[in-house]
Amino acid sequence: MIIDLKGKKALVTGASRGIGKMCAIALARAGADVTVGYHRKEQEAADTVRQVAECGQEATAFSADVADAAQVENLVQHHQEVHGRLDILVNNAGVAGEGLIGSLSDSDWDHVQSVNLRGAFVCTRSVLPLMMPQGTGKIINIASVVAMTSASGQAGYAASKGGLVAFTRAGAVELAAKGIQVNAILPGLISTDMSAKAQRRYRDRMLARIPAGRFGKAEEVAQMVVYLASSAADYITGQSIVIDGGLSVA
Ligand code: NAP
Repeated sequence: MIIDLKGKKALVTGASRGIGKMCAIALARAGADVTVGYHRKEQEAADTVRQVAECGQEATAFSADVADAAQVENLVQHHQEVHGRLDILVNNAGVAGEGLIGSLSDSDWDHVQSVNLRGAFVCTRSVLPLMMPQGTGKIINIASVVAMTSASGQAGYAASKGGLVAFTRAGAVELAAKGIQVNAILPGLISTDMSAKAQRRYRDRMLARIPAGRFGKAEEVAQMVVYLASSAADYITGQSIVIDGGLSVA
């Protein structure tokens, strides 16, 4: 199957690093122009823009905290001014936020929910005025396998990702008649900055839980994003697609 995203315009949040960066590059390889959303890492975002341009596609970077609705409005307005339309939204920006329930502060809890869950809601709400008149659109939420199988110290993060899975289903039902598909990807342990510390500390214990015997690569998540963003996936909506080397079924 050859996936062609020529003429498509994508917005990827958290595209300065890790999974989001690979999503932006993979979408560009398939022919899409990309807005690279990021929070603070300007140099890394500029590098993503450079790599998208090397694929022959247009890209600009724009800083916005996804937890801040006004900043997200500016991000979407920037995208519209540059690209004129929006076909693909990848809600990827996220933070880890570990802590045992007994010692997790209100502010730590709220921060994880506001970036991982409210951020996806706010971004989705902001792009609907662009997608709905078109009668087409793809929204892809990067959740986590911890929405299904959690671990100690991940209550806040797991709750945010479980909420994102529920939000995906609700959004799919609400937006299907408008020609907009909403799906979630649930990665397992993927090698990025976010998982680096845990991988260093618990490498052997973590690997022992993964039937594939290795951590996943950001590219492996990005390939699924490209598929879900394409017309080949027009009849797929509300789904949670797990990419975890078998972790959740072992
Ligand atoms: P990462 O390497 O830590 O990158 C996080 C990205 O999110 C960065 O681009 C960062 O921007 C951006 N970001 C963080 N807070 C933000 C905010 N408030 N507003 C806007 N952008 C913000 O993480 P990753 O591993 O690629 O994770 C990407 C997504 O996959 C996350 O939603 C994560 O929960 C999910 N996930 C990851 C794994 C894994 O094992 N890595 C597993 C399951 C799910 P700056 O660079 O500007 O700071």
